[in-house]
Amino acid sequence: MKGIGASPGIAIAKAFVIKHEEIKVNTDKIDDIQNELDRLADALEKSKDQLKKIHEQAVIELGDEEARIFAAHLMVLDDPEYVGQIQEAIKNQSISADNGIKQITDMFVGIFESMDDEYMKERAADIKDVGGRLIRNSLGIKDQDLGAINEDSIIIAYDLTPSDTATMNKQKVLGFATDIGGRTSHTAIMARSLEIPAVLGLKNVTHDTKDGDIVIVDGIDGVVVVNPDEKTMDEYLTKKSEYEAFVKELAQLKDLPAVTLDGHEVELVGNIGTPKDVEGVLRNGGTGVGLYRTEFLYMDSDKMPDEEKQFKAYKEVLESMDGHPVIIRTLDIGGDKKLPYLQLDEEMNPFLGLRAVRLCFVEKNLFKTQLRAILRAGVYGNAHIMFPMISNVTEVKQAKAILEECKEELRNENISFDENIKVGIMVEIPSAAVTADIIASEVDFFSIGTNDLCQYALAVDRMNETVSYLYQPLTPAILRLVKMVIDASHDVEGKFTGMCGELAGDPRAALILLGLGLDEFSMSASSVPQIKKIIRSVNFKDAQEIAKKALGLSTEEEVLAMVGEELEKLDIKLI
Ligand code: PEP
Ligand code: MG
Repeated sequence: MKGIGASPGIAIAKAFVIKHEEIKVNTDKIDDIQNELDRLADALEKSKDQLKKIHEQAVIELGDEEARIFAAHLMVLDDPEYVGQIQEAIKNQSISADNGIKQITDMFVGIFESMDDEYMKERAADIKDVGGRLIRNSLGIKDQDLGAINEDSIIIAYDLTPSDTATMNKQKVLGFATDIGGRTSHTAIMARSLEIPAVLGLKNVTHDTKDGDIVIVDGIDGVVVVNPDEKTMDEYLTKKSEYEAFVKELAQLKDLPAVTLDGHEVELVGNIGTPKDVEGVLRNGGTGVGLYRTEFLYMDSDKMPDEEKQFKAYKEVLESMDGHPVIIRTLDIGGDKKLPYLQLDEEMNPFLGLRAVRLCFVEKNLFKTQLRAILRAGVYGNAHIMFPMISNVTEVKQAKAILEECKEELRNENISFDENIKVGIMVEIPSAAVTADIIASEVDFFSIGTNDLCQYALAVDRMNETVSYLYQPLTPAILRLVKMVIDASHDVEGKFTGMCGELAGDPRAALILLGLGLDEFSMSASSVPQIKKIIRSVNFKDAQEIAKKALGLSTEEEVLAMVGEELEKLDIKLI
């Protein structure tokens, strides 16, 4: 069966199938309304007890941050809007408790799913999970006890809810295979953080697998095999040991520098969203943080985070990175990301509208609160400030002037801060890339945001599937822009260029970016070992030749073919 490889590795074990049954609610008219209200109250109590236990267990096994989701589930059960509407539905329509829960849950799920915002869309999954629990409890349906799994197993499920992943016995679960879900689903994220192989979106795996079947999960190629013959089993046992040897080899590189055979060194650093992500960066041998996306601090809250709350988060990251550079990006909201407590006008083209630093110039107090928090936290480590969505040098000067205002205020208030904090910009708008030579003298560094740079330079909505074939980060147009930025920074003494878009962690781009002279590569922590291996396998002068060759080609296809050959020559396998 072919699905989406969502977490790499190979697992072989017996199937543990979680049956996905459509729960039928009682849709009859009911006379004894009080009885239904009592059933609702019982189901609420039972669900809260279960969630409290799950929350406690999750705090121990997964940590405070991951466990927070269950505190949020508990809050849904205490939400007067949600519970009140269920009670009203039972009373007004004379329906059963389970029917009332289903109707109101479906309504809220629909509202959240229709929101544009990815973060809000994810909340729909939480409400579905809580509502499902409530319905099962109202009907007396028992959950399968995943904590009781006591032999090595592959979990086969329609989908896994956050409660499933929190309660399962993680020592015995070796892999996941599910009918639905993609690379960014909750199940995928959990599988990667637990480091167990997963294949998702298989459509019929629950139908085609029985408890006790022998299952192979190949999270590298997105393949699942049920009851393999001997030859297939041997093939996968070999692939499994090769993969494990490869991971071990990469792990040995952890404390070694990212240096080429002829001594050219670059920095490999991590992209993070919360202080908790620092652990992964360090575990994978990252030597800093090249992009701290601070939006999550704002989105995870029902009001604007104050200076103190932000200061604490930034300080925590800086202290755990122990003197390594940490690039903190100022708020990048607008576009597809909204804040519930910040009312903004509807825009025809939000990605070309009041986004990121443009919004911060309008909401100056919000901007200053964040800058003050970063400046103060800077005392506890090696902080850099980075402004997103810069179009031209005037905006750089404007942002720096506001930063100076904040410094002046802190000085007057006798509050200590980092006087010499480094300041840089994201280069993600083509106009900034082609004027990088004008901007270079105003900043300490550039960081190329290829995710948006591709979107704006190629006029391709980064979320629109129908035009995704044009989204080509290795096409000559983008490579030329990248070269312009790197060269402009190197023309001024002491400046550097990093990259924090997805391209920086793409092994197919590594040789070219290295050859173009990129100084710092910032990526998801788990990509660091592989990029390090590539860099340590090549001479810088050969990478320069490869970059030159790439710049002479006409299409991304040609570039990819050329790089494929070069990686083969270096005997580098990709995972
Ligand atoms: C980018 O645009 O490349 C980037 C890193 O920023 P984000 O993905 O957060 O827009
Ligand atoms: Mg961006």
